[in-house]
Amino acid sequence: MSFQSLAQKYRPAKFSEVIGQRFVVSSLKGGLLKQNLPRAMIFSGPRGTGKTTICRILAKALNCLNPVEGYEPCFSCYNCSAQKDLVSMTYFEVDGASYNGVEVVRELISTFQSLPPKPFQYKFYVIDEAHMLSNSAFNAMLKSIEEPPSHVYIALVTTEPEKIPTTVHSRCVHFELEAVPTQLIQQHLVTILERESIKIEENLLFEIAKLAKNSIRDALTLLDRFLLLNQIGEENLFTKWLNKSKDNRFINLLDYCLLNDPENALKNFKELMRDYSDLGFVLKSFSELCSEFLSYFVSPNADNERLTYLKQKHRHIPVNEITKKIIEILNFGDLALRSTFGETLFEACIVQVTSDVRKKDDQACEVANLEKTEAFRENINNNLEGFRELVEKELPAVKPYLKKAEFSYHVGERDFYLVIKISRVGLDLIKNSKDRILKMVKTFWPNFENYHLNFELQVDAIQKQTKLKENQSRLLTEFEKKLIDGAEKI
Ligand SMILES: [Zn+2]
Repeated sequence: MSFQSLAQKYRPAKFSEVIGQRFVVSSLKGGLLKQNLPRAMIFSGPRGTGKTTICRILAKALNCLNPVEGYEPCFSCYNCSAQKDLVSMTYFEVDGASYNGVEVVRELISTFQSLPPKPFQYKFYVIDEAHMLSNSAFNAMLKSIEEPPSHVYIALVTTEPEKIPTTVHSRCVHFELEAVPTQLIQQHLVTILERESIKIEENLLFEIAKLAKNSIRDALTLLDRFLLLNQIGEENLFTKWLNKSKDNRFINLLDYCLLNDPENALKNFKELMRDYSDLGFVLKSFSELCSEFLSYFVSPNADNERLTYLKQKHRHIPVNEITKKIIEILNFGDLALRSTFGETLFEACIVQVTSDVRKKDDQACEVANLEKTEAFRENINNNLEGFRELVEKELPAVKPYLKKAEFSYHVGERDFYLVIKISRVGLDLIKNSKDRILKMVKTFWPNFENYHLNFELQVDAIQKQTKLKENQSRLLTEFEKKLIDGAEKI
């Protein structure tokens, strides 16, 4: 039994099969057609966008004896159909992350001089993750990069080109691959599924393409997972797994971190780990949420109920505080992913970012708020009658009922509640003017601009006892509750 991943099976073998990257591909075609290709090249770009794939095609095209249209490997000439062991004498792919020392690089360079077996013309060297090479390794390579033997091509492949020393950079031609647009990835998935004669719902494909975050390889890996489940009729498990990004516990985790509540934050994280048992996945989903939240916090342009709630709740925290905290969490997340004890490390991170030191800051903030609240309280006490007069003036129809109504308020840390206790008829008349009254609060007490304004209507208790039957009273209480709920959601 041999499993071949879709990424392997559908790895592009020709330039025309590469998804996206038209700019890079056309430049290379030009170089091949004019037989004027740089000897030393840097290929950079996000993961899974085809850097190494392009190098393999390029190496094959260079050695092809009869390239189609002058640049595509023909797959039928002696070189194109050569045995693996022969090809392995002309194409070298080394991993810069594991072979980053100067000794290994010197050894590699020492093989540059020998000619490729005939009729091959060129040797092609790919150093993957090239940014991981040590400085001395780069230095050892300088001369060879500047003047490689005429039968040698060198490609430095990297996701972090800025980490390649300028001395090396300036001696290479840099090809930058772009993130592959979600739509292109989706189209590619459709083509593959057609060839595999498998049907999948379009929106599921879109979800996969989106989740792959511009990486074709990741998209195909996700599709592999789907197909495995599909074989045993368990594709709903996959959908469930996909929906995890909508899992409210990610938002709760951020919420508790911002609230400095280590106990609940930890509990939430542990639950997520129990359900997904994949730290990489949990942290990735969490970081996506953080990024979404930050953009939303700065400019709330999208209609997002969950984020609105979170923003409303934490609007008193200065945005730089939130950013600082999120950066700290994500930095820890990054460390955790590379650690053998990642899960524990991230738990420690949660405790640290929600620790007591910060709570003290929060307490100081609360004290300041309390003082502010006191000042407001005095302001309201002195003006509550004036406010009633304003409402009476603005709502003449309810005036007689407002005269007998009881105006009161309570101020929370960040919330202001105006309470009007009024007769049932009065309540019916006033309930539709809720928004207008809240606007009046805003203009009458401009200091409240940073508060969340709420408005509660209550039925006058005396009236309730004397004039309403028990049944009506129950219905009214329910109605009141709904009204208050509604008011709280404003
Ligand atoms: Zn060929």
